[in-house]
Amino acid sequence: MTEKNAQLGVSFLDLDAHYAPILPKIREAMERVIAHHQFIMGPEVGSLEAKAAACCGTAHAIAVSSGTDALLVALMALGVEPGDEVIAPTYSFFATAGVIARLGAKPVFVDILPDTFNIDPAAVERAMTKKTKAIIPVHLFGRCADIDTISRIAKARGVRVLEDAAQSLGAEFSRGRKSGSVGDLGATSFFPTKNLGAMGDAGMVFANDEALAARVRLLRVHGSKDRYYHEEVGGNFRLDTLQAAVLEVKLPLLDSWAEGRRRAARRYEGLFRESGALEKAGIVLPASPPSGEEKQHVYNQFVIRTPRRDVLRSHLASQGIQTQVYYPLPLHLQPCFQALGHKKGDFPVAEKASEETLALPIYPEIDEAKQSIVVRAIAKFFA
Ligand SMILES: *Cc1c(COP(=O)(O)O)cnc(C)c1O
Repeated sequence: MTEKNAQLGVSFLDLDAHYAPILPKIREAMERVIAHHQFIMGPEVGSLEAKAAACCGTAHAIAVSSGTDALLVALMALGVEPGDEVIAPTYSFFATAGVIARLGAKPVFVDILPDTFNIDPAAVERAMTKKTKAIIPVHLFGRCADIDTISRIAKARGVRVLEDAAQSLGAEFSRGRKSGSVGDLGATSFFPTKNLGAMGDAGMVFANDEALAARVRLLRVHGSKDRYYHEEVGGNFRLDTLQAAVLEVKLPLLDSWAEGRRRAARRYEGLFRESGALEKAGIVLPASPPSGEEKQHVYNQFVIRTPRRDVLRSHLASQGIQTQVYYPLPLHLQPCFQALGHKKGDFPVAEKASEETLALPIYPEIDEAKQSIVVRAIAKFFA
């Protein structure tokens, strides 16, 4: 995109606007780390963990090197090994399934629900076998999956639940329970574009069970409690102190940012309704949570559907309006999972979603003027 277009159009994210008010505090926090130079497992890591656990409502939080590593070390702690099956939605970021395969276990893909894009509990039930070790519900785009049904299915069979809360940090199930806090373990990501972004890679594992939390901590440092003595084969899954310091400054603002994202989502809904584009163009807006349950969605993404997604996307790009496609190819059709023997048609809801979904610019600081540019451009394209 040219500079000129960028000024006229709408960028997908605006990290300048996001960081402007907090940068002085972040610099101070980084300076403190530079001064004490405990770059590995410095005091900021522990204090971030305590605050993150309080925020997520879990007994434990273990800071790790990325969201992917959070999922990986969590599956390791749950004892997933070669020969095990792990059920996951076929419509998610690659890491959800990649970590299963990396442990030599088999990703068992299931379809999603068409309205929330989240894992279909009935499909999970059908996919259960004697080899099922765990289920990974993903709270996609920031919208909570049906954790109560998933938990019930899992409990009945003694299967573990790992919540992939990479996109949903701060989102709440019913009765105020936070995403990431209900499964045996929860994993989140602080990738810079997530609702709580670090200045690099970072992640967190959430746990209520003391023994599981201890196992994650052990695996995070090569399975070693006493240095150079190794009880298990783990990895280096530590979070840098510098990233912990950045995240500690940002964490208290997470809820207000979620409010900002929800406000922006309501504005999009209003603007789309006024524009008449919904009927004319057959655009489907993201399903909003039931009334009184608004916190079930933190809108990491605002994802619309249209059968003419690709032409619309090019048209918007030509006007400097940035959009994204999450995700163009479901996991069961990825070349690296060819050996699983899936073919097109196996999971039709996910396949249709990957042809029709378009993520529009959304972030806490986006204003009505920018959102109307987006909606007007879409309405005009279909007029
Ligand atoms: C971002 C993301 C991850 C991985 O997080 P990283 O920090 O990028 O490794 C895993 N699952 C989902 C659903 C994600 O969106």
